[in-house]
Amino acid sequence: MGGSMTSGEHCASAIEIQELDKWYGDLHVLKKVSLSVEPGKKIVICGPSGSGKSTLIRCINGLEPFQQGHIQVGGVKLDAPAAIQAVRRKVGMVFQHFYLFPHLTVLDNCLLAPVHTGLRSRAEAEAQARELLERVGMRDKAQAYPAQLSGGQQQRAAIARALCMDPEIMLFDEPTSALDPEMVMEVLDTMVMLAERGMTMVCVTHEMGFAREVADEIVFMDHGEIVEAGPPAQCFTSPKSPRLKAFLQAVV
Ligand code: ADP
Ligand code: MG
Repeated sequence: MGGSMTSGEHCASAIEIQELDKWYGDLHVLKKVSLSVEPGKKIVICGPSGSGKSTLIRCINGLEPFQQGHIQVGGVKLDAPAAIQAVRRKVGMVFQHFYLFPHLTVLDNCLLAPVHTGLRSRAEAEAQARELLERVGMRDKAQAYPAQLSGGQQQRAAIARALCMDPEIMLFDEPTSALDPEMVMEVLDTMVMLAERGMTMVCVTHEMGFAREVADEIVFMDHGEIVEAGPPAQCFTSPKSPRLKAFLQAVV
């Protein structure tokens, strides 16, 4: 790790984003975004729809190209295709829509990446997948197909699948937004469990209870900019910007 580092200055960061600018055509969707995430920290990104949250998360994982600025993940600078592959190996991603492979069982969904990439033998991967499925409360669903599961179960399976690649960092993009209300808590509980085990996490979510409980830092975005950032106690009780105030009144 950190082989391409020259200064060591940012070695401590799990994620280091400097002055990131991204456009879709003429649309300026990320504007000089800078963000530093230390290992083990939990960041919650919130903000109105269209403010650039998903785009930022996708840039961190190398899923979106960007035009200006720098992103470094786990000591690897995202600047070349090989680096993108290296970064993706360090980062687990959980989306709003679970994207499990419908034709594979939960267990086989979990085995695909670690076995295909050669990270583990099939036997090792299976032992680890079963352990992770147990951890997310899905042990008895290992042989089920996604269509046989509730949304909450599918999302917990998706979390287990991501964990099977031994990620250093987990990115969540509105993981509970597509769920029926009664299933939100089981997924948030799984995320809290991960947080308590020390995972570095960046979560886009509007679950402010989760944010209060888990986040070290709240990052509020609007129109492609980070408008305000700080600990939950400060952002929620005494927001500085009128835009964050208005947003909190709307979501809480
Ligand atoms: P959020 O996740 O905060 O709702 P997004 O990152 O999805 O916001 O979108 C930010 C802006 O970029 C929005 O104006 C959206 O319409 C636009 N956008 C997102 N994806 C694309 C795309 N693939 N092509 C063009 N515009 C996009
Ligand atoms: Mg989004």
